[in-house]
Amino acid sequence: MVDMSHIAGLVAGGEYPSPFRYADVVTTTVHKTLRGPRAALIFSRKDERELDKKIDKAVFPGLQGGPHLNQIAAVAVALKEAASPAFKKYAKQIIRNAAVLAEELQKRGWRLVSGGTNSHLILVDTWMDGKGISGAEASSRLEKEGIIVNKNTIPFDMRKPFDPSGIRLGTAAETTRGKKEKDMRKIAKRIDEILRKK
Ligand SMILES: *Cc1c(COP(=O)(O)O)cnc(C)c1O
Repeated sequence: MVDMSHIAGLVAGGEYPSPFRYADVVTTTVHKTLRGPRAALIFSRKDERELDKKIDKAVFPGLQGGPHLNQIAAVAVALKEAASPAFKKYAKQIIRNAAVLAEELQKRGWRLVSGGTNSHLILVDTWMDGKGISGAEASSRLEKEGIIVNKNTIPFDMRKPFDPSGIRLGTAAETTRGKKEKDMRKIAKRIDEILRKK
């Protein structure tokens, strides 16, 4: 099984391979890079084990109550959009933007977990063994300047989850707003200024 919640839009846009190369069952939320309403989907390979029937049965009458048809209609619209050429462009630009944002932050001396990114996500070590600031401090400073990010633990974090060592950035929302590589350079510069302020 693969949960592709975070990268579903990259899969739909053709920037990431289909998880069905590895999985019989694929789950996803609809409200992340797939850019739809808050909802979830379960896909399964049709096979001799009849996984699809078992899943259908477990969902209803097993788990789910009355369907929210407004929400289901919105899922359909999101999936129609995800099948369009414009969505392919969006997925490609998300990755390009993340690559530039990551590179610009690294140029300014920030350590990224995994040394960079291949997706829309960037995990920045803001603590840097005590030379920097905590993730909570970083996210609250950025929020005051209109940049909303998550605080996030980093691998082998010595700090606590409520005040971890890093922040997590994603480029999907800014890409939807039409931002390109040159804008990412500006955003990286601004983030760097805010985090370094004494
Ligand atoms: C985002 C996500 C969910 C659902 O999150 P909500 O935004 O709280 O609805 C569930 N599972 C995974 C793996 C996710 O990434």
